[in-house]
Amino acid sequence: RIVVVGSLNLDRTYRMMQLPREGESLHATDHATAPGGKGANQAVAAARLGAAVSLVGAVGSDVAGIELRDAVAAAGVDVAHVRQDPEAPTGEAVIFVDAAGHNLIVVSQGANSTVGERDVIDADIDAGWIISGFEVPDAAVVAAAERAHEIGARFVLNPSPFRALSEALREKVDVLVLNEHELAAATGSAAGTPSDAVLRVAREALRVPLLVVTLGSHGAAAVSRDGVVRTPAVAVTAVDTSGAGDAFTGAFVAHLAAGDSLDEALRRASAVGAYAVTRRGTQRSYPTPADLDTWLSE
Ligand code: ADP
Repeated sequence: RIVVVGSLNLDRTYRMMQLPREGESLHATDHATAPGGKGANQAVAAARLGAAVSLVGAVGSDVAGIELRDAVAAAGVDVAHVRQDPEAPTGEAVIFVDAAGHNLIVVSQGANSTVGERDVIDADIDAGWIISGFEVPDAAVVAAAERAHEIGARFVLNPSPFRALSEALREKVDVLVLNEHELAAATGSAAGTPSDAVLRVAREALRVPLLVVTLGSHGAAAVSRDGVVRTPAVAVTAVDTSGAGDAFTGAFVAHLAAGDSLDEALRRASAVGAYAVTRRGTQRSYPTPADLDTWLSE
């Protein structure tokens, strides 16, 4: 089993010719709402691939919260520990996108900011793998890491939105998943696709057993004490890159949990990420194994 301790957000996307300036009102050309949040996305990506997944988190006691929980459950995720907070509204991400694809994003954490140690304890997690990230408070992430340690589960951290890791947290990380911007922020390395040497140095500086770096259209890399493994990206025309990293993380852990090799997990997760960028939205753009195989053979 995989347990994700993470966020659920309602994504509201407004498309417009150009982004508004301060004091300006303008018409959007269209808008749409969709289930999102990094925790929910990762859980859905893993469940679509057939993994047994539970999500620990919180939504508000509003219509959006019920819809989000239902959407995640419909993908096969156990949502028994997605709590409905009586006080806070459901988390939201408001996304403005202009005709050239530039965006402005405001995230309001809402109920996600109420997730804490108590939620992790109450969930009584029994799993081989626990995933967490920084859209829920530190107390929840640390409790998830401690629980993993206690039960001998692997702890996977995707520290996004990025901030430096405390020492107490870092020493409990088994797998650290970063994109190239987060790698640069975490290690001070130059932006751009890192060489094997840069990746080795980064892993030593971050002192984690396995460092995984997603590289957008350049695929992904994993560094362990045994060296660097890379996988190229599938060549695609990107339509919407949001949620690609979450798709990758969920898929990567689903494959490792199923007993696949690091090489295989990296290759399949990279293909899931590529599939996700060819479709609008986040969770809705994640494939089943059959979707993926059909698409790869086209
Ligand atoms: P994030 O969304 O966190 O920035 P990335 O952009 O690195 O993460 O995307 C995660 C994974 O999705 C990549 O490792 C890659 O496998 C796949 N991917 C992302 N963008 C593309 C793209 N333009 N073409 C092909 N694959 C992509």
